[in-house]
Amino acid sequence: MVDSKRNKDNEYLWDILSEVPDPEIPVINLVEIGVIRDVQINNNTKKISVTITPTYTGCPAKKLFNDLIEEKLIEKGYTNFEIITVLSPAWNTDWLSEKTRAKMLAEGISPPTADNKFVVCPNCKSKNTKVISDFGSTACQSLYSCLDCLEPFSYFKCHV
Ligand SMILES: [Zn+2]
Repeated sequence: MVDSKRNKDNEYLWDILSEVPDPEIPVINLVEIGVIRDVQINNNTKKISVTITPTYTGCPAKKLFNDLIEEKLIEKGYTNFEIITVLSPAWNTDWLSEKTRAKMLAEGISPPTADNKFVVCPNCKSKNTKVISDFGSTACQSLYSCLDCLEPFSYFKCHV
């Protein structure tokens, strides 16, 4: 059994992967958003296996995730690696930490709330908001408007 989570042997790889920005929300990296699930190094072949779960099935950014991870590893001098996509358990919004949610809010993107009941305005924190368009600047975001401060904002909707 290989120890798969962050430990002193693979820590440097987690650090490298933390430099890969999410294509949808560049202030958040793929480790923070929970797309990168696992990093393993085979003791014999030294091959690196990166396990990812796309933010939702059929996400158009999926290919991009692979490309971005590949580019980063190559940039750091690693060529002996594979990227494994795991769809189960499906990515869900519980994987977003409080810190990650706060970063999204600061960018004017409303992260999904734990119970998914409210879409909170990132500007004034009002829950009095309405959807304007199901398709925002990217496929994973909807455009919302706040009924209190009247600011339009994006809502990150990539969840199952
Ligand atoms: Zn508002």
